[in-house]
Amino acid sequence: MKSPIEILFQLQELEDHAAVPDQDAAVQRLRQKIPAPVLGHYDRLRVRGKKGVALVRNGVCAGCHMRLASGIYATLVRAEDIMICDTCGRYLHIIPAPAVPEAPAPAAAIDGGITLKLIKRGRKKKVPTPEITPAV
Ligand SMILES: [Zn+2]
Repeated sequence: MKSPIEILFQLQELEDHAAVPDQDAAVQRLRQKIPAPVLGHYDRLRVRGKKGVALVRNGVCAGCHMRLASGIYATLVRAEDIMICDTCGRYLHIIPAPAVPEAPAPAAAIDGGITLKLIKRGRKKKVPTPEITPAV
């Protein structure tokens, strides 16, 4: 089950691209799924030429670029409630971080780094840097 804000965000994307949003069947279908008070606030923002839903990235509202209060952010992350940005009044939509395969296991990465450093050091000892010697 999608949260109303997810649907709202979808609606916003549709309305931004639909030629005549009022007559777009997909727009109408989405609107029916959103609670009236939520839709009302969204429409008020839209009427003023604002986006109704702002994405949240790294705890920052993409609508006004202000950092969100930690309490608001925490609620969003836990998807406990619908939150509105204190600064710009937009609904806040957080996109769950995609499961990106992170860098290989940390242990392997560290090993590789150390080996590389050792090799470099070894080479430096054998070949002294010629630029420094003449200056002294
Ligand atoms: Zn904002």
